[in-house]
Amino acid sequence: MNRAFLFVLILFTGVMSISCDKGESMPDAPEINNVILMIGDGMGLPVVFAAMTVSEKPLNIQRCTTNGLQTNFSADQYITDSGASGTAIATGTKTLNGSVGVDAQGNPVRTILEIADENGFATGLVSTSSLTHATPASFIAHQSNRGNYELIASDFLKTDIDVMIGGGLDHFSKREDKLNLTDDLKEKGYTVTTTLDETLNSTAQKLAGFTAPVHNPYRLKGRGKMLPQSTRKAIDILSKSKEGFFLMVEGSQIDWAAHANAADTLIDEVLDFDEAIGIALDFAENDGHTLVVVTADHETGGVTLVSGDINSHSVKLNFATKDHTALMPVVFAYGPGSTDFAGIYDNTDIFRKMKKAFGFE
Ligand code: MG
Ligand code: ZN
Repeated sequence: MNRAFLFVLILFTGVMSISCDKGESMPDAPEINNVILMIGDGMGLPVVFAAMTVSEKPLNIQRCTTNGLQTNFSADQYITDSGASGTAIATGTKTLNGSVGVDAQGNPVRTILEIADENGFATGLVSTSSLTHATPASFIAHQSNRGNYELIASDFLKTDIDVMIGGGLDHFSKREDKLNLTDDLKEKGYTVTTTLDETLNSTAQKLAGFTAPVHNPYRLKGRGKMLPQSTRKAIDILSKSKEGFFLMVEGSQIDWAAHANAADTLIDEVLDFDEAIGIALDFAENDGHTLVVVTADHETGGVTLVSGDINSHSVKLNFATKDHTALMPVVFAYGPGSTDFAGIYDNTDIFRKMKKAFGFE
């Protein structure tokens, strides 16, 4: 081969590989600053496909690039409740059904939200249910009885969570002990709001946004865009943190519609949750340093799809039970660190994977 030609060939190959390196993949994975965890309470795979079927356009959840499966039995039951499964995801510890943020012996265990806070990260919780309900409570409270809403509300004062948006004002302000914890929140520097509009219009960096006395209604009963708008508001506040942030967003009432075997409400709650997922994914896409993990704490209703039509966007759901089932929830992930969420693992591993993503110990 002609020397000059060989030289040109080598030069050309070199230029090609440089430009490919630049355009295709970076040598090192981007640093992860933020983790947004989204929990569709009771959301099994069948209701995700039911929502995909009725939707005229692809769902946001379909933008996730990695899927995994998680086992979710609790310390004492084959079929978990939201307290034990929320605690497993939040703390990496199996506990008894009915407990939040404690181990099976009742000892408090540190949550990913608390660990993020201790490491200087901003933190937030958003739910359509009361903030004191089992799923959000699992990330901030330490109680053996998930029904003790007033004690759970008191636990909110023990962290430096930056933003919380959801129902549950009564558990802070209309209490048996006559304490008004909204005063304590204000003393700790929070702006306390009591409607969705006030919450969305607040310019506070520490925000306790109560959008209902207890729970917000179903979207079909007038909740409006509370969940996607609150998700955007929380991200707006938290993304001002230089260190990064942890945010948990719950579509709380997918579970309740499934308990009621109410197919239309169930699908609508999944579609609403998917709008919030879209907000998180839009942020992650622009940011490039945000891991988004979408999963359920358990399946509810034993839902299956027995007939449907992809062209007319119709589907018929059958329910096997009015309770939870042992079906493995799907984990959907997007962004740096997302490939860690492929495979079959335990719900307690989600805590460890999030911790690894943040780079904690
Ligand atoms: Mg829940
Ligand atoms: Zn349930």
